[in-house]
Amino acid sequence: MSNYKRTEEYNTEATKKLSENYRQILKLSGEDIEREGIIKTPERAAKAIQYLTHGTCINPADILRSAMFHEEYKQMVLIKDIEVYSLCEHHLLPFFGKAHIAYIPNGKIVGLSKIPRVVDAFARRLQVQERLTTQIRDCIQETLNPMGVAVVIEAKHLCMLMRGVQKQNSVATTSAFTGEFLENSKTRAEFIQLVSGKFH
Ligand SMILES: [Zn+2]
Repeated sequence: MSNYKRTEEYNTEATKKLSENYRQILKLSGEDIEREGIIKTPERAAKAIQYLTHGTCINPADILRSAMFHEEYKQMVLIKDIEVYSLCEHHLLPFFGKAHIAYIPNGKIVGLSKIPRVVDAFARRLQVQERLTTQIRDCIQETLNPMGVAVVIEAKHLCMLMRGVQKQNSVATTSAFTGEFLENSKTRAEFIQLVSGKFH
């Protein structure tokens, strides 16, 4: 897939500049930047940050459009336990967990593997969990135009777990709905029941 290829071809100029900056960060953290284990770290970190933010180069709607099909199926389509790995834009530390996504088709369905790829495209950039949740919802709603979309994300944030409060088991849950999931409490309850037990 062309969208993924990009990530393995690192921008030479960006890698060079990022490496110089990471070298400064290591120095200012009190590290001996000439020691064996660290000497190549600036370049590795420069490539890692480019990979972890490459979602900004992807148009998630294009992923959906690449596999949309006419179909009269009008029941809920649910994909549970999609792995999410993202970076908190406030601390540049990871947050990670699971996304559960449902939609009710309105004449069109999408290849099931495309939904996790949409999650990835929005997660591989500097994020907050709240925006990640609504961006996924809006992308599916606007591209597929279904009767409704439901997105729930449960995630642990290393900025909470490693610093300050250190509540080791706290999980943040966010949700966003459109259409049938907003207006019809029975539909929403069915969705919640199908993904419950997944809640902590
Ligand atoms: Zn944070």
